[in-house]
Formats: sequence, structure tokens, C-alpha cells
Amino acid sequence: MIVRVLGSAAGGGFPQWNCGCANCLDFRKGVFDGPARTQASVAVSADGRDWFLLNASPDVRAQIEFSSVLHPRAPRDTPIAGIILTNGDIDACLGLFVLRESQPLHVYATNQVANGLFERNVLVRTLQRTATQLTFHALTDGVPVPLCGPDGNCGLTVEAKSMPGKVPIHLQDCVTPTDGDNVGLIVRDTHKNKSLAYLPSVAHWTPTLESIADTVDCIFMDGTFFQETELPAQGLGMHNASVMSHWPVGGESGSLRWLANRSCPRKIFTHVNNTNPILRENSPERAQLVACGIAVAYDGLEIRL
Ligand SMILES: [Zn+2]
Repeated sequence: MIVRVLGSAAGGGFPQWNCGCANCLDFRKGVFDGPARTQASVAVSADGRDWFLLNASPDVRAQIEFSSVLHPRAPRDTPIAGIILTNGDIDACLGLFVLRESQPLHVYATNQVANGLFERNVLVRTLQRTATQLTFHALTDGVPVPLCGPDGNCGLTVEAKSMPGKVPIHLQDCVTPTDGDNVGLIVRDTHKNKSLAYLPSVAHWTPTLESIADTVDCIFMDGTFFQETELPAQGLGMHNASVMSHWPVGGESGSLRWLANRSCPRKIFTHVNNTNPILRENSPERAQLVACGIAVAYDGLEIRL
């Protein structure tokens, strides 16, 4: 399985257009030790021919241009055989509307995520101009689904696993939160018996999370915030990490300490907010990750499993 990181930042990207935090300011001054990042997404493929996007970020157009494997091979064509959504947040699915040029799209999501996307959303009509433009594939918790390209089975399956999280901000007070609003994805290469976990939004520890991290070959883990009070402490709003349903990386009860003790051989934080000090390659917080053998995803990172 080939895993290509298209984007590695949380919603807003890095730097974020309206942000004057220390990280964003230093990046614009040219004194930041680390690259810019687009909003989180990865592409996976078993054969390098048919590709599946895990989330479609608002930056998907630029991410495709930046990745030659995703370029069209004919006058109207795409190697993107499907798009799999972890939740209905704008930063996870706005890219669907960017990919609207009459191209047939296969979208995999839970019914909860699909309902939030398709109901009362007039914009989705631009993806349904013909009966075959958008095909929806329902994901159910714990049930692997084969991923298929134009020529059939691609040698990959995807399994959704409910993760503690929240409904998208634009649906709060409109829907009742349930399991299936936010999932992690387990992608398996059925020929090579290799597996990838993609978990960009995780609110806290669960037994399911622990069993995933002890069994897969590579894990991408929610690295949104380093500290519980990261935004308020920098004067950037009132919400703590837990209110935004992201498990902080740092501290005694943080995800770093937990992840360091898991048996997964390749561990990577992704969906990193622009305020997070782990974006700075020379920061003490980044050194904590390095000491535990844990990486930070960057745009263009490619992994072969
Ligand atoms: Zn910022």
C-alpha cells in the first residue's frame, strides 16, 4: 500500500489566513523552522493506479496538482477512484465541491455523515447533475468494505470505527449526536496484509483506539493541539481542546505518552493546528515526539507498507 500525505494541518491550514499567532507570524516573517501545511488528507493506493482520498480538504485542488500520481491520464480523467470521509467537518469534505466538474465521484461515509452532507444542502445538487455523478457507499461501524475502481476490486478495504468526537459546527443544535458522526478509518491491503489507521479527530482515549494502535502497521493520530488550553492561552478564543473534541498531545494524560507505549511500528501525528508548537522542528515539544520515535506528518510525505 502506498500512503501519500496530501495535507497535514487542521482546519485553516498553516499559516491560517486570519491568524496572528506566534507560529503564523514567524512563518510570514520567514523565521519559522518548518514548512507550510495544507489541510489534512491522505491518498492511498494498492497498485499506484487507483487512488482513494481519506477526506477531501478545501485544499484538494492544489494537493492534486502537487501530486503527479493524481493527475489525469486522458482528456477527462482522474486516478481518484473514491473519497472516504471521517466526518462532516468543512475541512474534511469541502473538497467534494471543489471536485465538481461532472466527474463521477464515489463517496464512502457513514449514514450520519452522509445525511449531514446531503440533507438540506442545496450545494450538493452540483454533484448530482446526472444520476451517475455521485455514488454513495455506506460505511457501518466495524464492517470492512472493499474499495473498487473502474475495473473492480482494488485490493484495499476500508473499515470505519466510531471515534469520540462531535457533529460538525454547522450541524450543532440541528441534529442529535450519535456514533457514526466521527469515525477513524482502517485501510487494509488484502494482498500484502498491511494496515493503516487514519484518525484525524479523536476526543479522548477508548479501548477501541488502543486495540487499533496495537494492531495496525501505521497510525496517523489526531495531533490538533499540544495543550488543553492552547487557544485561550494564546488569546485565540475561549475553547479548550476537549470542548473542540481533540485529545491534546502533551502532558501526563496526553496522547503522546499513550501513543509512545503502543506497539504500532510507525506513528505519525497529523491534523496539526497552526498554533501547535510541534510544527516547529526546533521546539522542545517536537523533541518530546522525536524522543518517542513519533513523527509529524508533512505535505508530500510518502510511506510504503
Ligand atoms: Zn496561527
